[in-house]
Amino acid sequence: MNYYITTFCYGKKYEPIKSKWCHRIETMCKNSFFEIFTTCNINLIYGFRYAWWDLVRLYNNINLLLKTQKPVVNVDIDLIIEKDIEQIVNLDYDLIISKEIGNDEAFPKEYSNILGFGICSGFYIIKPSATIFMSKMYDLMKTNNETYSDQVNLMKYIVNNEHTIYYEDAILDNIKYTNIIINIDNIKICVLDFNIIIRDPIFNIGQFGNHINIDNVGGTQNFLQYFDNNLESLPLTCRCGKSHLGDNNICNHLEIRNNKQEITN
Ligand SMILES: [Zn+2]
Repeated sequence: MNYYITTFCYGKKYEPIKSKWCHRIETMCKNSFFEIFTTCNINLIYGFRYAWWDLVRLYNNINLLLKTQKPVVNVDIDLIIEKDIEQIVNLDYDLIISKEIGNDEAFPKEYSNILGFGICSGFYIIKPSATIFMSKMYDLMKTNNETYSDQVNLMKYIVNNEHTIYYEDAILDNIKYTNIIINIDNIKICVLDFNIIIRDPIFNIGQFGNHINIDNVGGTQNFLQYFDNNLESLPLTCRCGKSHLGDNNICNHLEIRNNKQEITN
């Protein structure tokens, strides 16, 4: 099925990524069209505070849905697609979204503590059947006097409204994954197995995307290396030990990466 992949790209930190990001989508995702949003084309009630870009991209994604009646996929500009994502788009759910790192400690903790997991809006797929639900989310985000964040508003909505949660397996590219399904407002939300779209990736395990925090790897130029070189030959992408990013954990990811290589090689 044809579908759209979109991103919001704004500012000096992100603009240099655009050409590699587009090239990757064009070569890998055969049945997709892509569209890049580059300006703020909406009126922001609370001004340019944190996550204003979440509002802009959702506004444009809903418009695209209404216009085309095709699935619309948001892929953050710092998320590197590694495989054709069409199999994920074809999963039979109304809204599909990636999982945040950290399980019940994931951002924002006040809701992941309750749900046992967090969602990461760096990758989400809206099917036409979720247009009304996402329009409602947009209104909540726009008018929330605390935050515009899609991730926070969606998790808050789930926690505060009647829902059921269960697990469903899916086989993608011959690998079995376990997704979390949330039934709410007569739609099905699928929170993807963490290993499908990986936040702060350590090694290659057949993932469809690597979501890498640009600050964790020391800026845009370092980040671009992850398009051109094998993940496992590059520095770790985790946040561990980066006190300037507020993390004082001792990193054990190098050991994890090395052990995995011993097992598979
Ligand atoms: Zn680490």
